[in-house]
Parts: sequence; C-alpha cells; structure tokens
Amino acid sequence: MPGSSTVTVHADREVRPSRAVAPPIYQTAAFSAADAETFARAAVDRRGQDFYTRFGNPNHAQVAAVVAELEGTEAAMVTASGMAALTTAVLALVSTGDHVIGQRSTYGGTASVLLNLLPRFGVSTTLVDQTDPEAFDKALTPQTRLILVESPSNPLLQTTDLRAVADLARAHDVLTMADNTFATPLNQRPADFGIDLVWHSATKYLGGHSDVSAGAVAGPAELLDRIWDAGLLTGAVLGPFDAWLLLRGIRTLPLRMPRHNANGQALAEALHDHPAVSRVHYPGLASHPQHELAARQMRGFGGVLGIEFTGGYEAADAFLGQLRYARRSASLGGVESLAVHPASMWRGMLSEDQLAASVPPGLVRLAAGTEDTADLVADALAAADVVAATGDRVRTP
Ligand SMILES: *Cc1c(COP(=O)(O)O)cnc(C)c1O
Repeated sequence: MPGSSTVTVHADREVRPSRAVAPPIYQTAAFSAADAETFARAAVDRRGQDFYTRFGNPNHAQVAAVVAELEGTEAAMVTASGMAALTTAVLALVSTGDHVIGQRSTYGGTASVLLNLLPRFGVSTTLVDQTDPEAFDKALTPQTRLILVESPSNPLLQTTDLRAVADLARAHDVLTMADNTFATPLNQRPADFGIDLVWHSATKYLGGHSDVSAGAVAGPAELLDRIWDAGLLTGAVLGPFDAWLLLRGIRTLPLRMPRHNANGQALAEALHDHPAVSRVHYPGLASHPQHELAARQMRGFGGVLGIEFTGGYEAADAFLGQLRYARRSASLGGVESLAVHPASMWRGMLSEDQLAASVPPGLVRLAAGTEDTADLVADALAAADVVAATGDRVRTP
C-alpha cells in the first residue's frame, strides 16, 4: 500500500489518463456520445464522468478517487459543499417514520438538520451526549436507521468512540456516518473502525486554502450509488473548476496536516494554564477528558482548539480583536489561521435554547493555519495577556 503522500499525488492517474501533467479542467456542462448505445450507457453510469456534469464529470471522478483511497473506502463522491454531502446522504438513506441519532456537540448546520429540517419531513431525531458510551444505545429505537457522529466535534472538540458506535449500529442493522472534517483521513480513518460512511466539508482541510466550497462522502459503492441517485435530484453539483481546485489542494494535505497538528498542540499547551483562560478543549492535551480515546483512534489531533475565557462572552470577543495573525472568520482548515466566537456566529442557525445547549458563551474556536508555530504561540499569548490585564482592571477598578 502506497503512503498517503503518494496516494494524494497519484490515486487519480488512471481515472482520466492524459498526457498533461496537471489534469485538464473539463469546464463543460455536458458530453457528447458517438452513438446511441454509448449515450444510453453513459446516462445510467453511476458516478460516471461522460454524460452531463450534474451526473458526473472527470474532475469530480479524479478527486473522488483520491478521497476514497485516503479514507480506505470503496467509493466516494463530491458535492457543492459539506452540507450538500450531508443532506444528500440523509435524503438517500432515511424516509418518513425513520429515526436518526446525532450528537449534542456537533457542527451547527448538522444540528439544524437534525433539530429543524428532518422533523419537518416526519423523521424523528435524538441528540445524545457523545462522551457517554451508553448514550447511543439508550437512544436506539426500532425505527432508528442512521447514526450521525462527528469526532472531534465542532467546536467543543469532544471525541466519539467510533468503534463502539459502529459495533452497536451493526448489531442493530443501523447505518453510521461520520463527519471527518476536523480530523481528516490523515489523522483518523473512521472506516477502519467500522463506520459505514465518512463525509467532509472539503471546504476545510481537504481543500486547505479557503478558496473553494466543496463536500465529499465516502463509503461502500452500494451506498454511494444510492447517495448519487439522490444527488442527481438535489443537484448540489460541484463546479468542474472547484473540483479541480479541490484536487490541487488535497495533493498537499499530507504535508499540511503535520504542521496543523503541531500548531494546534503547541497553542493548546501554551494557553491551557493562562490566567485569562478557564479551559482549553483540545484532544491532544493529556488533561482532555477523552485524551486516551482520542490517542487510540487518532494519529494527530488537528489544528482546531476551543479556548474558554474566564471573562465570558466579552473576553472571548476581546481576544479575537487582539490576534494579529488569526482573522475573524467562520471557516477553518486553510493555511491561514482563523478564529471565531461560536456563540455569536451560530445565532442565525440555532434558536437561543439550542445555542445555549451547544456552546459556552466564552468560547473561541481557534483554527491554527500552517504559519510558524512560534509566531502563532507568541501572538495568542500576547492576546491572552491583554485579556487578562483588562479583566484585572474590571475586577479592581
Ligand atoms: C464547515 C463544516 C461543515 C459544513 O460544511 P460546508 O462546506 O460549509 O457546507 C460540516 N461539518 C463541519 C465539522 C464543519 O466544520
């Protein structure tokens, strides 16, 4: 088996062989066929690349081949965004009357699909505390069809025992689907633990340069066929140029992730005992309540950390204002550091109650880029010092 750096550079070579060293961009909405028979065959070729771009395009097929090989799955497909990957898969796999289990700590969009979207279509949902190994078992009903997990979770970096959930689901004939956006296949391969489907906001680490919105879902060919069928109808097609950008980005994923991991770890260690900080959420810290589990199922802990400030909402916001390198932005996973205050960002996506249940008001999500570790650490410490000094002034006027 070639290593991941070889895979990201070569796994697409046989998909649409060409003498061009960089793959051509098939910027076309449709393909022609020489005769009726070829045309008819292309029309039903699932995850094909020669009929109509909504049905598939060589640029999709190339990047999907790399994603599947990296995740260790039979097949993969790409979509216009991470949310499109999730909603297309869910639409393909559940029907009215079914029940879906998700996590309490999960990406805001995923929470909203579970809490607000699916119930409108008669699909009931239960959100569980993923740190409790019994919680998934307790939530199972005879109608449960799908369990959605996310590990580490956005933005609290909670860890889910992937093997335990996969084993439980298998025993009950329930499908599992893991959001692997934060870990990436470099740090964790959910399929190795028995998870059926793996999905990504490829907008983040897979793309890696904050220049493309994309999603991916990987798993067994039989399930991918069903998701592809639904994808034809949702029409969340990734543009050929964006698929090409994603492939270009993913080529260097194995080079970028070790730096993201090192930066995340260094920032977490530098900040966790700072006087302005009450807690750092990072699975690579020995003090993380699930560190042992994280170390068992991950090879690295990623570049994202949650920093909780003693001074609450205002302190979190003040910290963001002081950072020199990390800009205030909703995204993550690019070469540039970005930071956000989830309590203010997710206001539009979740109700006040839903928000209060999912994120502490004093939490900052810091996504370390690939800048020099020493620069990021010095910058974050200086910003935290200002927050601490301001807090002291408030306490002793
Ligand atoms: C950003 C994100 C998503 C949503 O992906 P989009 O590409 O923005 O649609 C899903 N899950 C996680 C963990 C994310 O960070």
